[in-house]
Amino acid sequence: MFVLSVVKPPEGEAKYGKAEVCEPVAERGKLFTQVYWALRERNGWMHPEVANKHAEGVYLIDTGSTVTCEGLTFRIDKAENAPHACPCCGRLVLPDDHSFAAPRDADCLGCFTWEVDAPAHLPQNSAHAVKKESK
Ligand SMILES: [Zn+2]
Ligand SMILES: [Zn+2]
Repeated sequence: MFVLSVVKPPEGEAKYGKAEVCEPVAERGKLFTQVYWALRERNGWMHPEVANKHAEGVYLIDTGSTVTCEGLTFRIDKAENAPHACPCCGRLVLPDDHSFAAPRDADCLGCFTWEVDAPAHLPQNSAHAVKKESK
């Protein structure tokens, strides 16, 4: 089983873009379709043949590696080691990012509060576009 993650370019002062993790697929070939439609969605003017060509360059990359195409960063992982999107900011969280990163509802390194005094949701370390207003 393979899992495709698609990361959009960062917004505003955010360091990371928001990620979308696709449904796991049994065959690598099915990743091609996911890449193809992510590219078409990103750029509706993209000619299908161009999208095809780009998708061919993406879906065969090694698991754990990334490739950027049309501003989108694609990453392929084995399903048992799949990343997820931070439930707070949407940054891609890898299972080994920090000691509590494995659960699918784990925050990213920029949102997780390590110490009581440490500020959470740092734009320079998360996908937040602007600093959160403190209440
Ligand atoms: Zn986050
Ligand atoms: Zn956050």
